[in-house]
Amino acid sequence: MWEEWYTQKIKAKVLSNAVHMPSGCLVWQRSCSGGYPQIGGRFNGKAWIRRVHLLVWEWAHGEVPLSFYVGHSCQERKCVAVEHLQLISAYDQTQAAQTAQMKPTRDTDIARFMEKVEKQPSGCWIWTATPSLAGTYGLFWLDGQNMGSHCASVVLFHKKSIPKKMVVMHSCDDRTCVNPDHLSVGTYKENMEDMIQKGRDRSLGSRNTQAKLTEAQVLSMRAEYVDRPGEIMRLSAKYQTSPSDVSGIIYGKSWKHISVTLGTDPFIGPVFMEMPPKGEIHHRAKITEDQVREIRQLAAQGLGPTEIAAKFGLRKAQTSQIIRGKAWSHVV
Ligand SMILES: [Zn+2]
Ligand SMILES: [Zn+2]
Repeated sequence: MWEEWYTQKIKAKVLSNAVHMPSGCLVWQRSCSGGYPQIGGRFNGKAWIRRVHLLVWEWAHGEVPLSFYVGHSCQERKCVAVEHLQLISAYDQTQAAQTAQMKPTRDTDIARFMEKVEKQPSGCWIWTATPSLAGTYGLFWLDGQNMGSHCASVVLFHKKSIPKKMVVMHSCDDRTCVNPDHLSVGTYKENMEDMIQKGRDRSLGSRNTQAKLTEAQVLSMRAEYVDRPGEIMRLSAKYQTSPSDVSGIIYGKSWKHISVTLGTDPFIGPVFMEMPPKGEIHHRAKITEDQVREIRQLAAQGLGPTEIAAKFGLRKAQTSQIIRGKAWSHVV
């Protein structure tokens, strides 16, 4: 313990560095650590550093008992008013710290989310930030991952997580809408039935769900497709399109105007070639005969078409055709 004169000196220092607030708090104005006021000095040649609120409590009540902490009854961590300080058990302290940490984080997440929302007269909240690769819905970074903004809305406002195999459904027609009141969690089947029902309700002019997809989405669906079980279902959930529509796209029965099916590769599934956009000059990577030989050599060495395509700035389908001799067949 310090000698009395030194304690008095520190008490005076604490008082001169704290300000009385209308709330009754005595708020520390100097350095803090972890949000709590901190003070230090030298006594008998030894340096010391203490939490100010702890010192204040000790001056009034004596030493803090083992496995207890000094906490605030007010919400002000920088408060050093002795009447706002209380003993709490280590357990309560952990609970309090967790609640204190959880709440501001969620509030910040919600504020961050709302910055990206534009409220429409229709009641829909339109997502104005990052769209997903496919462009159907927005993306929002939440709890350490990128998720669909409509899913984030459910997590933030309905305060529940989305179980695996469940999807977030819209009661409105706008897929970019993130108004929690327009969203519900349902099974994939319910979602499909719902979409079909809406399709029936709509005028016959916009015929089917296929019309909702964009060319870019169809192309990325085809590029993403890997020939393995469950893949059609995965794409169907991801692009919110019926499995039969996805299958039609993948096997080239629909959307023929943007790419044609060249055939089905036993390992990679259907192989597509994109059709050049009409009236546009075609800037596709040009390759030389030597590069064609190199591509085939790399494939023979076991490198996959995806890696080779990336290396040469080609499309995967194009690369597969080169490897299998369907394109550049004159080069040996
Ligand atoms: Zn206080
Ligand atoms: Zn809406």
